Amino acid sequence: MQVINNPKQMQDLTLSLKKEGKRIGFVPTMGYLHEGHLSLIRCSKKENDITVVSIFVNPLQFGKNEDLDKYPRDFERDKTLCQKEGVDFIFYPDYKDMYPEGYQTYVEVVELSKGLCGDFRPGHFKGVTTVVLKLFNIVCPDNAYFGKKDYQQLKVIERMVKDLNLPVNVIGCPIVREPDGLAMSSRNSYLSKEERDSALFIYKGLIEGKKLFESGEKNSKKIKEIVIDTIKKAPLLKEIQYVELVDKSSLKPKETAEKGDIIAVAVYIENTRLIDNIEL
Ligand code: AMP
Repeated sequence: MQVINNPKQMQDLTLSLKKEGKRIGFVPTMGYLHEGHLSLIRCSKKENDITVVSIFVNPLQFGKNEDLDKYPRDFERDKTLCQKEGVDFIFYPDYKDMYPEGYQTYVEVVELSKGLCGDFRPGHFKGVTTVVLKLFNIVCPDNAYFGKKDYQQLKVIERMVKDLNLPVNVIGCPIVREPDGLAMSSRNSYLSKEERDSALFIYKGLIEGKKLFESGEKNSKKIKEIVIDTIKKAPLLKEIQYVELVDKSSLKPKETAEKGDIIAVAVYIENTRLIDNIEL
């Protein structure tokens, strides 16, 4: 396994591997890897000749009052995990090489970036699409793997790829959870024992919503209510930012729930913002 810092070197490498006929799989991450990330790496390993993992905490996608500075980082640990999984290259660029002085180009998926997290994190998805487009141009992957954990992000990236005719397949992978249901996230490392116990109510809420739908309730308002009521039982809940029931493609809120729709939530457990979702 090789660690590459320089974007041009990474690009030269993957372009020459592609000329040899190698299929490149790509897993973009912000590091502090967990089983969720590793599941994407395993998918890529299965379906490609070469797997590239990027580790880059992208400042562009963090708001002013968000957790950029305290975002968990442990490159040595990440490196060991990638090596164990048989990753071929880690792309680990410096901020100054991704956004050199004078940088001024951005890409935005206008409609899908609105609503859900877009309403609470202005500029977030613009930061995500900009860095992912750059990473796609640097790594030149045939296949790129994203988790459904960040469901809106996945939809935004799929749209960008379609709208800009990018030569990459985007593959959405299932949410990996802890045995007790908590969706894995690098941000879970912020949680104390008590906060983590409270965070369990998020998935409990989603399950209650899905159960109600499966028992025949199609009124989206009623389904959202049971999700909210369940999450409100979390002792250390600070805020529910949203609980929405949306169409799986357009992400538009639905009045009548149908199979395949998504219930998506964002909550603050004390100072930690957590997101999760479930497919009906
Ligand atoms: P991040 O490092 O948080 O930016 O995540 C990098 C990639 O891993 C994104 O495509 C995420 O959706 C994905 N990911 C994060 N957590 C999970 C999870 N629990 N299950 C599946 N994929 C995940």
